[in-house]
Amino acid sequence: MTLAICVRCGQEKVGALTPCSSCGFLPRSFEDLAKSITLSDRHYDREALWHIADRIRSGKSFDFDEDAIARLAVELETDGGNLKMPLGCQLAVWTPVVVMCLLAAALIALVIYLMAG
Ligand SMILES: [Zn+2]
Repeated sequence: MTLAICVRCGQEKVGALTPCSSCGFLPRSFEDLAKSITLSDRHYDREALWHIADRIRSGKSFDFDEDAIARLAVELETDGGNLKMPLGCQLAVWTPVVVMCLLAAALIALVIYLMAG
């Protein structure tokens, strides 16, 4: 369960990407999604979130790390909102499979060579 706070009114909510029960704000743009994910317990502990919520409720805006938000927004956009496996992980998964196939092919070639001989 993810504890998050509404980026617009500071209301606590469950899940970063859910609509706010207080003001009805639902993050839709990649920037809003990135901000909503940032204001959740994935990035801050509960105490820090409560402090941020207090700030937003008292009308002060929270100073987002604009660079981090921009990066996260681009990530969300390129992934289409899905958290895909990075290329490095895909290579790590497929490299042993490819090596195994090559070894098997080499073995088969060797057996055919020996039987023909
Ligand atoms: Zn709200």
